[in-house]
Amino acid sequence: MGQHGGKAQDGQSSSNVNRAYDVLKKLTPKACGGPRLEEQACRRRSASACPDSQLPATLTALNLALAFVQLLIDGKWEDAAGSKTFEDLDPRTGEKLVDVAEAQAEDVDRAVRAAKKCLPYFPFNLGYPPQAYDDGPWPRMTAEKRSRVMFRLTDLVESKTIDVPGTAQHFRYFGGFCDKIEGSTIPVAQEGFTAYTLREPIGVVGQIIPWNFPILMAGWKLAPALAAGCTIVLKVSQYTPLSALRLGELALEAGVPPGVLNILPGKGSVCGDALATHPLLDKVAFTGSTDVGRRIMEGASQHIKPVTLELGGNSPVVVCGDADLEAAVRGAHEALFFNMGQACECGARLFVQEGIYDEFVRRSIELAKNRKVGDPFDETSTQGPLVSQKQVDKVLKYVELGKKEGAKLGCGGGRWGDQGFYVEPTLFYDVEDDMAIARDEIFGPVQVILKFGTIDEVIRRANATEYGLAGAVWTQSIDTMQALTRGIKAGTVWVNTHHVMDAAVPFGGYKSSGYGREHGGAVLEHYTQAGRCAYPGMLLVSKGRCRLATQDQRSAASYKQQEQSPMLRHSCPLPLQTKSVYVPLPKSKEQRSWVIM
Ligand code: NAD
Ligand code: MN
Repeated sequence: MGQHGGKAQDGQSSSNVNRAYDVLKKLTPKACGGPRLEEQACRRRSASACPDSQLPATLTALNLALAFVQLLIDGKWEDAAGSKTFEDLDPRTGEKLVDVAEAQAEDVDRAVRAAKKCLPYFPFNLGYPPQAYDDGPWPRMTAEKRSRVMFRLTDLVESKTIDVPGTAQHFRYFGGFCDKIEGSTIPVAQEGFTAYTLREPIGVVGQIIPWNFPILMAGWKLAPALAAGCTIVLKVSQYTPLSALRLGELALEAGVPPGVLNILPGKGSVCGDALATHPLLDKVAFTGSTDVGRRIMEGASQHIKPVTLELGGNSPVVVCGDADLEAAVRGAHEALFFNMGQACECGARLFVQEGIYDEFVRRSIELAKNRKVGDPFDETSTQGPLVSQKQVDKVLKYVELGKKEGAKLGCGGGRWGDQGFYVEPTLFYDVEDDMAIARDEIFGPVQVILKFGTIDEVIRRANATEYGLAGAVWTQSIDTMQALTRGIKAGTVWVNTHHVMDAAVPFGGYKSSGYGREHGGAVLEHYTQAGRCAYPGMLLVSKGRCRLATQDQRSAASYKQQEQSPMLRHSCPLPLQTKSVYVPLPKSKEQRSWVIM
């Protein structure tokens, strides 16, 4: 990459990103955070495709030469093998923003080995306290210190990156978990024994994330894995590589030891595939589409790796006749158009009860028509570009299918403007369950409205999908609310709101929307495993050293045997099918009406 002037280790390209973000922060202070539920901020957030899309204006403004962005491996910024790069495009114009190193299979291997080096290595060594069973700097660090590093990172994320209150919350929440990951002591039936469990980090984890909320998805994945003491290779989407690289830089600054967190931008078929099937990984965590999720699961079966999957959705929004009409219209509108419909939990199928249907459709069309499409830097824009041309093509293909299959087009349906990846706010009504626009995940600014009669009917229809990520219910009746929140088969159900999420509340899919849970204590189950010890007699602990009261060979043998048992080493506790229900507290009506994060 000589022509770009940067050297592998001087961090020059990354400090360019650094400067760009710092400047950006000054340019658009409000878009960088502000009160989470503040309406202005919401509007602006929903107008911006991804943090990357905000870079070009900064660059133009300051004429910054952001030439090349590298891989983060073992604490160093490096070129990809063969100096391979790809172009990161500005979604507003379709023009090149920056060249980014494109991780190859060799780079994946180097990153995994770097992570492995910092890894819990479990020698059979009873002379040390549990933490020191691990060789590497991260799991070996006391949990309290690890927690401090994570809090430092939280502060850096809040002060130096952009628009990321949710990401910061994840680092803070899980930073507090480091020293609260506890095992249990278990009274056993056999005389002369006691037993306890150690919750040990699962090891090197490969994490693969999509483009639709690039920095937030990185936060969801990294925070719990770091808290558990795992080491990580994070593969980020080729459409949105920059914010995660910036996060990696902040992690080093916060004191995450080199090699603990490695970040690889790259293509799914090259870097993603090499990572998901790498034999040295102990676990794969994936967020993305259901089709790719299936492949990841297949790949992981080669080495019996535990996998967690956060996949696609086709979430129903059910608006009952007794709902606060205006609040429901606005809520359902944001449920879909937030982030241009590129949200896994978006309200993709909107079921409206027959008594209010016509009026609801009329008001929804009006709202959709009033969206102001434009440059996300423009304060007045409420809808920015999609992420890529590929996404535009996919969305427009569904629009054509909708028309062909006889749905009524309320507004939109075409490209917007003559450059960039914009699509008009689009609305279909009188949609039938078996039309493609109702069956598939469109992932774009296309609202799909269906009519229903009874609650039993809508529960059946809402669940007639392979997906089960989320759902929302709009009603003022507690009976209807209970029937629907329990009836809808999905991992998250909102009542009279949408999109609200929290680091403390489990999130994940039923059915083909995935396997496992993110957030809350639940996710830590996936990044730790219970090592079981059974010792005769008591465990003596003195001066930080831990040894057996009776040096019984049997106990040693039993520990060793269990360690090697593939079931114990590899078993990932089965996640319960947790459902999270968000219910609003009694606030003023105005606040209650559309609280969108
Ligand atoms: P995608 O499945 O195409 O890609 C996701 C990631 O996987 C990317 O980093 C991609 O490069 C990588 N990848 C692609 N092919 C691969 C392969 N063969 N092996 C390994 N990795 C591979 O999804 P996308 O288009 O980036 O994102 C949109 C999808 O993500 C939607 O379906 C959306 O619902 C889903 N999503 C789900 C959640 C959730 O929490 N459930 C959150 C956000 C997005
Ligand atoms: Mn981009």
